[in-house]
Amino acid sequence: EASNARHFTCVFYSDVDRQNLLSEQDMENRMHGALERGEFVAYFQPKQRLADGSIGGAEALVRWIDPVRGLVPPDDFVPYFERNGFIINVDLCVFEQVRALLASWIEQGRQPVPISVNMSRAHLREQDFLTPYEQIRARYGVPASLIEFELTETLVFGDPETFMGVINLLHARGYRCSLDDFGSGYSSLNVLKDVDIDTMKLDRAFFSAGDDAGQREWDVVESVVDLAKKLDLGTVAEGVEEPGQAARLRAINCDMLQGYVFSRPVPVAEFEQMLFGA
Ligand code: C2E
Ligand code: MG
Ligand code: MG
Ligand code: MG
Repeated sequence: EASNARHFTCVFYSDVDRQNLLSEQDMENRMHGALERGEFVAYFQPKQRLADGSIGGAEALVRWIDPVRGLVPPDDFVPYFERNGFIINVDLCVFEQVRALLASWIEQGRQPVPISVNMSRAHLREQDFLTPYEQIRARYGVPASLIEFELTETLVFGDPETFMGVINLLHARGYRCSLDDFGSGYSSLNVLKDVDIDTMKLDRAFFSAGDDAGQREWDVVESVVDLAKKLDLGTVAEGVEEPGQAARLRAINCDMLQGYVFSRPVPVAEFEQMLFGA
């Protein structure tokens, strides 16, 4: 019964004040229409180069702009769409927005920066998962080297062979690849010797202590950055919120940071404003 379902939803989420959370049935009913109406919108979180403070790229992060509920964050719908497979459509929709943005910069003679997109593991169940991406790519003349795919560490450590196959395929088409959320879970350093990624994104768990982090925490971060450098990987520190952390990351030669200390994820117009000015 519908009233029962609502009752349970309320009870479950009441303590975190999430009455507006979409039920799974709601999402199922509305996701196709939402896609058609353009409600899945890419926001952009700039990555700051620590060497000179400039913007070295950005990550595209999806938001569901729901006419009733307003901005719905990905944590409220991405996990569900990963289970029902709809995330494939959302990822392609984000990719299309990124492609269009890069194409418009090139057309206007602006200097583009690389943009990364998240690729859900759901794609990898499909034999030819790259074909729809390549079809979108063929529609615009944007070099693949300006696009980076972020793949999460749970994927590589869960199934390293599939992961390596995916990386090889992406590289063969000219895309760059990063390992997202490194250090968030059951990272095995051993796997790093086999996976030919371009960039390591240090999970924000490394930085959650803020300016309270002690020498041990920083020794770990520095060692991970050094390891990445030895393996010729770029490094991006995620979830950095304090200026003191940014300064230390710069001192240990981390390449870039992506965090609230520099910018939150912002709508495309605001991102272009940051990049190019008025
Ligand atoms: P992620 O790929 O690891 O993205 C980084 C997340 O960290 C973003 O959350 C970003 O807003 C957040 N973040 C960045 N800096 C800070 C900070 O200084 N402090 C804090 N507290 N958070 C920070 P967001 O946008 O809510 O996305 C959450 C997750 O949802 C993403 O984690 C990613 O796993 C997933 N996601 C987002 N967009 C997409 C998408 O288009 N496709 C897929 N498959 N997954 C997506
Ligand atoms: Mg990511
Ligand atoms: Mg991440
Ligand atoms: Mg994450």
